[in-house]
Amino acid sequence: MTAHQKNFIAGEWIDGSGITRDINPSNTNDVVGEYAKADKAQTEKAIAAAKAAFPAWSRATPQERFDALNKISVEILARKEELGRLLAREEGKTLPEGIGEVARAGQIFAFFAGEALRLTGEKGASVRPGLEVEITREPVGVVGMITPWNFPIAIPAWKIAPALCYGNTVVFKPAELVPGSAHALSEIIARSGLPSGVFNLVVGSGSVVGQTLLEHPDVAAISFTGSVATGRKIAQACVLSTPMKKFQLEMGGKNPLVVLDDADLKVAVEVAVNGAYFSTGQRCTASSRLIVTAGIHDRFVAAMTERMKGLSVDDALKSGVHVGPVVDQSQLDQDLRYIKIGQDEGARLHWGGELLNRETPGFYLQPALFTETTNSMRIAREEIFGPVACVIRAKDYEEALAISNDTEFGLASGICTTSLKYASHYKRNSESGMVMVNLPTAGVDYHVPFGGRKGSSYGAREQGAYAREFYTTVKTAYTFPG
Ligand code: ADP
Repeated sequence: MTAHQKNFIAGEWIDGSGITRDINPSNTNDVVGEYAKADKAQTEKAIAAAKAAFPAWSRATPQERFDALNKISVEILARKEELGRLLAREEGKTLPEGIGEVARAGQIFAFFAGEALRLTGEKGASVRPGLEVEITREPVGVVGMITPWNFPIAIPAWKIAPALCYGNTVVFKPAELVPGSAHALSEIIARSGLPSGVFNLVVGSGSVVGQTLLEHPDVAAISFTGSVATGRKIAQACVLSTPMKKFQLEMGGKNPLVVLDDADLKVAVEVAVNGAYFSTGQRCTASSRLIVTAGIHDRFVAAMTERMKGLSVDDALKSGVHVGPVVDQSQLDQDLRYIKIGQDEGARLHWGGELLNRETPGFYLQPALFTETTNSMRIAREEIFGPVACVIRAKDYEEALAISNDTEFGLASGICTTSLKYASHYKRNSESGMVMVNLPTAGVDYHVPFGGRKGSSYGAREQGAYAREFYTTVKTAYTFPG
């Protein structure tokens, strides 16, 4: 056991008040590390440092920004196996998933290194004679980042990289369950040559560190990913603060995957298993509602069950494992509670859903498949955030589409079909931010926008060049040259 890790504030590694223990969900005897928790005063210090660093960083050249972001990318990619192992160990996704996520973080920093060089404005003719009009983008200021535990490096990366790219300064509050990846990423950022105060790490709770970010007048914007309940609180706090803060919220999903009679059964099953159960179902884009038309329903359920029987659920670091453990006891309790709710509501627990014992004590849950589910049941309406999916039978495409859209969420959706007509219609009429054809609802590219509609997201999209909508503010300048 090494000494505990510190927070990064104003260019220095600083001890906190109290410790958070990072526990391996595949083996609860394994302490991944201990991390200092920042208190309110330290969070304020980080905000002050970010504020002080803003004037210079907001005017840094594109080359300086490129150099820092590129350096961060190069180191992340060079260390993806090691960092992927740390990620899998602390979060419980499988080793290949962990390495893949780290690689993704490196790619995101590379993308935004390039974007730093590409930011341009517009110059237009005025409607008034002799005047010039320019439209430019400026950074927003100090951005507070509040992130969840399920993508411990990719989500921070897709917030931090664009924030720095466009000249903002950052105070980063990771989820308490996964400080290891956040700390490792922060060490890399700390080495990248950024002036001190441009980037700050404050590990701690939502109620102390998060709340301080939300209340502080010097934080200009908040980028949040997490639950709907917390998202609502964040929106309220941002609107009530003086000055009001810009905010962006990525929250839950209850993502539908429609399987039509004409689907390629093999493809549909792969897509459904991947979307519903990989990363232990702990993705806001997971397919939790499998809406299957009558002609293929029974064949789909049978093939799905066979495929699920072949899934290895075990220690995230073991090779050949398909599904790692649930992240912690409280998430496991929630999964089990919903499995019970589903049964009480009259859905049929068709397969899985039992706790599993493995060599080491961990939160192992057999992926669960419900059938005979209706879309009004709680298991079809509320986000469970675990390896639990339900099959809803639909009469035909039209009914499947209606069920697909009958949800308060709208993050991702998908359809498995060989019909161009239905695929095109679904792409146009599915009420979600991201729609997939013959692909899992989870799994996206990093150079295009990510986000949803309805109750899933609020504010500007994340990722790709669209990220600049949140991390910049537009200025319109008029000149009368005389
Ligand atoms: P999850 O289920 O993913 O943990 P949460 O919304 O509870 O979702 O947490 C997401 C992030 O929001 C975490 O970093 C958490 O510490 C933070 N958080 C939770 N409650 C608050 C709050 N009241 N104010 C600010 N941040 C919060």
